[in-house]
Amino acid sequence: MNDTGATDRIDLLGLDRPSLVALCRDWGVKPFRGQQVMRWVHRRFESDFEAMSDLARGFRATLAERARVAAPAVISDHVAADGTRKWLLDVGQGNAVEAVFIPEVSRGTLCVSTQAGCAVNCLFCSTGKQGFARNLTAGEIVGQLWLANRLLGARAGAVDGDAEDGAPDDHDRIVTNVVFMGMGEPLLNYEATSTALRILLDDHGYGLSRRRVTVSTSGVVPMIDRLRDDVPVALAISLHAPNDALRDHLVPLNRKHPLAELMAACRRYLDRAPRDFVTFEYVMLDGVNDADEHARQLVELVRDVPCKFNLIPFNPFPDSGLRRSPPERIRSFVQRLSDAGIVTTVRKTRGDDIDAACGQLAGDVVDRTRLARRVERGRIAIARA
Ligand code: SAH
Ligand code: SF4
Repeated sequence: MNDTGATDRIDLLGLDRPSLVALCRDWGVKPFRGQQVMRWVHRRFESDFEAMSDLARGFRATLAERARVAAPAVISDHVAADGTRKWLLDVGQGNAVEAVFIPEVSRGTLCVSTQAGCAVNCLFCSTGKQGFARNLTAGEIVGQLWLANRLLGARAGAVDGDAEDGAPDDHDRIVTNVVFMGMGEPLLNYEATSTALRILLDDHGYGLSRRRVTVSTSGVVPMIDRLRDDVPVALAISLHAPNDALRDHLVPLNRKHPLAELMAACRRYLDRAPRDFVTFEYVMLDGVNDADEHARQLVELVRDVPCKFNLIPFNPFPDSGLRRSPPERIRSFVQRLSDAGIVTTVRKTRGDDIDAACGQLAGDVVDRTRLARRVERGRIAIARA
C-alpha cells in the first residue's frame, strides 16, 4: 500500500470488522480501536478523523495519512412528489449508479446498487439494456447507505445512548431497511455484496437485523447457496415467468440455472433464512406473462416453496416495446394466487416521476445529453413536490 497519495489511502467504508481489526494490528494499534473507528464511521457517519475524539492523537494522524472515508460523489439529488428521493452517484469513468430512499410511515427503505450496469440483460430492464460496466466495491455499496444517512440527517447521536447492547433503536434512524434492488445483480458481485452485508448487520456497523436486509437476485443458484452459508438475509427472487421457455426469454440467466434448480435453491435457503418464506418478484407485462394460465402454472411451480408474491407493474422506459398489464389483469392474477393460499401484494410504484422506480435506473453518464434531460425532468419533479 502506498501511504502518501490521496487515492491510495484505504477506504474504510468497505472494511468489515475483522479487516479493520487486522489493519489496526498491522499498524501496531490495539485491535479494539478498529471497533471504535467502525462506530465513528458507520454509526456517527463521521469522515473527519480529527473529530474522532476518543482516539489517540497519534492514531488519528495515522488514519488521516493512510485512510479515508469517501462515499461516491453525488451527481444529482431529486425528490419525487411522494417523498421518494433518488441520488445519482458518480463511480468514475463516466459511470453512475443510483440509490433510492423510499419513506413510509413505519419504515424507511434504501434501495442500493451493486454494479454499474448489469450483464444479465433481462428483457424488461433498462439497466440490463445498458450492458455491464463494472462491479461496485464493498465501499461503494456501503457508501450509498452512509451517504443516505448523512444526507437524510440521521441522528448521529443515536449512537451515544446505546452502549449496552450496541444496537441502535430503529426510530433513531431514518433508513430502517435496505434492499439490494438497485442497479446490478448482487450475486454476480458476491465478494463485495457479502462484505457490505456483514457491515450492514454488524452491531458496530449499521446494526440492521437480517430480516430488514433483502437481497434480490435473478437466480444465480450457486451464489444463493453461498449467501445461505455466509450471511443469510431475507431473499427475493426475480421470477417473472412460470415455465422455462418463457423465463429463458425474459431472464436469460434461466438458460444456465433453470427453474427446477432455482426452486431447489430456494428450499435449501429457507433452512437458514431469517424469514420463513422467499419473496418472488413478478413483473406484470401485458400479454407476455400475465394470463390466468400463467398464474395457474406459478401455483404449481412454487407448491413446495413457502413464499409470498410481489407483483411489480412494469415500469416503462423508451424503446422497451413492452407494456404494463392493465389493472383488471393484475387484479385477476392476484386473485388466482390468493385463492391458492399465496400471500400476494402489488408493489406500489414509487418515485416514477423522477425515474426512480424499479428498472428505470440510469446507467452510463457518458451520454451527457440524455443525463441532462433526466436532470431537467427531476427538477420539474422537485418543483411539484
Ligand atoms: N438484479 C437483481 C436486483 C435488481 S432489479 C434482480 O433482478 O433481482 C430489482 C427488481 O426490479 C427485480 O425484480 C427486477 O426484475 C425488477 N425490474 C427490473 N426492471 C423492471 C421494470 N422495467 N419494471 C418493473 N420492475 C423491473
Ligand atoms: Fe440485471 Fe436485475 Fe435488471 Fe435483470 S432485472 S438486467 S438481473 S438488474
